[in-house]
Amino acid sequence: MPPHFAVRCLDCGSVGIFNALKPACERCGSQWREAIYDYAHIGKILPDLLTSRPFNIWRYHELLPIQVPDSAITFGEGGTPLIHAENLGSMLGNPNIYIKDERQNPTSSFKDRQAAITISSIKEANITEFVCASTGNVAISYSAYAARAGIKLWAFLTSLVPETKMREVALYGTQVVKVTGSYDQTKRIAEEFARQRSITLDLGARSIPCVEGMKTISYEIVEQLSAFPTVRKATPINGESPVWQSPDWYIQSVSGGLGPLGVIKGFAELEKMKLIQKFPKFGIIQVDGCAPMVHAWRQDRESAVPVQSPRTLIATLATGDPGRTYTELRKNISNYSQGAFESVSDDEAFRAMHLLAKMEGISVEPAAAVAFAGLIKMVRSGVIKPDEVVVINCTGHTTPIEPHILGEGWGHEIDASVSLTTENREEGLLAALSNVSLEKFPRIAIVDDEPHVRRLVSRILQSQGNYTLFEAEDGRQAIELIKRERPNLVILDLMMPEVDGFTVMETMQQNQETSEIPIIVITAKELTRAEKERLKGHIQSLMQKGDFMSDELLDEVKTLIK
Ligand SMILES: *Cc1c(COP(=O)(O)O)cnc(C)c1O
Ligand SMILES: [Zn+2]
Repeated sequence: MPPHFAVRCLDCGSVGIFNALKPACERCGSQWREAIYDYAHIGKILPDLLTSRPFNIWRYHELLPIQVPDSAITFGEGGTPLIHAENLGSMLGNPNIYIKDERQNPTSSFKDRQAAITISSIKEANITEFVCASTGNVAISYSAYAARAGIKLWAFLTSLVPETKMREVALYGTQVVKVTGSYDQTKRIAEEFARQRSITLDLGARSIPCVEGMKTISYEIVEQLSAFPTVRKATPINGESPVWQSPDWYIQSVSGGLGPLGVIKGFAELEKMKLIQKFPKFGIIQVDGCAPMVHAWRQDRESAVPVQSPRTLIATLATGDPGRTYTELRKNISNYSQGAFESVSDDEAFRAMHLLAKMEGISVEPAAAVAFAGLIKMVRSGVIKPDEVVVINCTGHTTPIEPHILGEGWGHEIDASVSLTTENREEGLLAALSNVSLEKFPRIAIVDDEPHVRRLVSRILQSQGNYTLFEAEDGRQAIELIKRERPNLVILDLMMPEVDGFTVMETMQQNQETSEIPIIVITAKELTRAEKERLKGHIQSLMQKGDFMSDELLDEVKTLIK
């Protein structure tokens, strides 16, 4: 069977056949090459072929560097859900935020795409031993696939990788080599080991299978966005609508940069196949303590200055020297799309991690949370516009939760040995439960005619655990509710049909029994001077819709209910 793809050198342009044992250009020796396919032909047939195929990366096998997809090493990777982030969206004032949930891959990170293609490719070449260096997740992923393929794996891990991750790698039967040093040093040691022993080495961004695995993310995103009922459809260009819909932004937390490099290639191919009309902007997010790409981008440098000693607790993102990957990424981002490079602190990432779990029910590892912290920053600074469609790569799952992320006071305690051994079991139980029971908790009324705002605010308060909540969907209901329930606090919208928030406030004021209840106003409206006068002295706090984060609202609530 003739190969369905070729390899082109990025340096001298020569085209040749792929050989997993020869990872360099035959003409000039460069390891920077890319796979090319018959785009004109595949573009025409692909949408029809896909209709009958299962939703995982192998549905795109015409565009993958594997000769016999039927013998590929697979756990059904890819085909991860695209989830509409409604609470996060209302919180940020952008209703178009979609999460590509890469936690739902076989080993819980997007590295499984790269591992599936890489391990299948070396298996196809009859290679039986393999070396990789990793900040954790690549090693876990390769380990699972190597176990299934019967390939012996050596994983070189920097000692910064959490112990639990190291043990997971070992569990799969991988030879774990723990290197006390940075990830960049670990990579060099792995390279030397592979060279001395003549074992095939994982080349990351220089590896054709790695890049090809990652690009499947873009294929899936455009297919999924097109099928999503809530997504604003693209306006036809020259009277023609695109086959698939691209987002305005793709956001990812970045370490070595293989992910975005692959995803950009995917979008470029979709454009060549005439399946999309628009290239998304890329949001590349790093951690403050290790942000060589962000610095280089800001200084408009073609290559990044390596960070010698990364200062971050988030080991997954501690690639200090991105090497040529940055240069390629910069070239592609400048050619195809626009982009924004942004960095966030470890603390911002931990806060985003907590927020995402509470607001969307999605528990991610700190490295994935970095992307969400970046998203929040970019929306708030106006880089991402409120009507832009954003897809954020939720790169990986967390387990276990490290103590510094939750802080104190996250659980209730019951001592069953005391309560259940008293004479009266029933009484003992009630007494034991009294510190978790509802009656003691402060009561809050949430008044808003928009269901998504009520949902967001009640989720913010509910996730704190300690409030009894009431909701009213218009002013009239609110007045009755407040009279009946006497809440300790009212969270009030101003603009509501018929009886508005001003009237609710004034009615509360006129009644002695409700006049002392504190009020937080949440409004979408720019207030006029007269309106501000009307509120003055009657409310305790004013917050703008789409521009408050859960912590800020909670802080207000806690100060007002003592
Ligand atoms: C590898 C990884 C990243 C960084 O991805 P790159 O594209 O390699 O820079 C981010 N998050 C998680 C969970 C990862 O495993
Ligand atoms: Zn070459």
